[in-house]
Amino acid sequence: MTPLERALRERIQAEGPITVEAFMEASNAYYYATRDPLGTGGDFTTAPEVSQMFGEMIGAALADCWRRAGAPTDAIYAELGPGRGTLARDALRVMRRAGFSGSVHLVENSPVLREMQERALPDAHWHENINDMPAKPLLLVANEFLDALPVRQHVGGIERRIVVAAGGLAFDRDGDVVETSPARDEAIGAIATCIAAMGGTAIFIDYGHERSSPGDTLQAVRGHRFTPVLVDPGEQDLTSHVDFEAIAHAARNANASATSVVTQGDWLISLGIEARARTLLRANPDRTDDVQTALQRLTGDDQMGQLFKVIAIHSPKWPAPAGFE
Ligand code: SAH
Repeated sequence: MTPLERALRERIQAEGPITVEAFMEASNAYYYATRDPLGTGGDFTTAPEVSQMFGEMIGAALADCWRRAGAPTDAIYAELGPGRGTLARDALRVMRRAGFSGSVHLVENSPVLREMQERALPDAHWHENINDMPAKPLLLVANEFLDALPVRQHVGGIERRIVVAAGGLAFDRDGDVVETSPARDEAIGAIATCIAAMGGTAIFIDYGHERSSPGDTLQAVRGHRFTPVLVDPGEQDLTSHVDFEAIAHAARNANASATSVVTQGDWLISLGIEARARTLLRANPDRTDDVQTALQRLTGDDQMGQLFKVIAIHSPKWPAPAGFE
């Protein structure tokens, strides 16, 4: 039995069944605090770890938006859940070249990942919570951050809970599931409030759906495979699909503008990733296969291209970032 399962069983025995939301929150807090989950030797691989092109496209989009907003000198680069810091490093290389000299603010609660980020970005500032960030115009990105925040599940209007059963943990009820995520709404609300007051833009990339729809999307991944969600809590990554309609709604509620939702593939192609790939190929003729494979992984319909969606929220006084037309 994993250490977290033992703790959760004790908690359930003492307090009664726990909600799916509490379970997901406890599992992921433990999981991220105790490891670097990324890459081939870990549990899953994210887009910034596939290729530098991903972060470079984001850097180009943020720098372009910042310039069109009049290049405010007090703007900061911010990122939620920056993993190994790879995206930030690739994006900032492009942004610095475009004249952006603002400071770097990372929201991260895993000590293990924070240490990796410190090596990649020695001059950055770290925050435990979104609300601890300075009130400045934001150039923000979050890749695969929202999917790790907890969801609530309801079955027949009743919140779904987890009980101790013979041989492990089990759901207290089955049936048609409806998911909501107050944690995501709160995160988006905080960012949108800052952007509406101070200016800025925020780009969110995650797997999920464009329209709110019912369904159980909670999933667990370990060693690049799907695993049963209630097994070995704290030792596998728990995520659920992001409801992008709910994200847009939370942003507009806080007086920010929200773009339409586009697929990662269409977005990267409209930002010019294919031209970037050709440049990389010319500079590194020996890496042809790597660059082609990475481009295909990031944009291909059967790979990350369709499954992942992108939305931006921005100040009504700022232009929308490119790629959402
Ligand atoms: N963006 C990175 C990592 C994605 S994994 C990439 O694309 O490679 C999710 C990241 O979010 C990790 O850095 C994890 O530690 C962080 N994270 C998860 N829940 C968090 C929370 N509640 N507060 C702050 N960071 C969190």
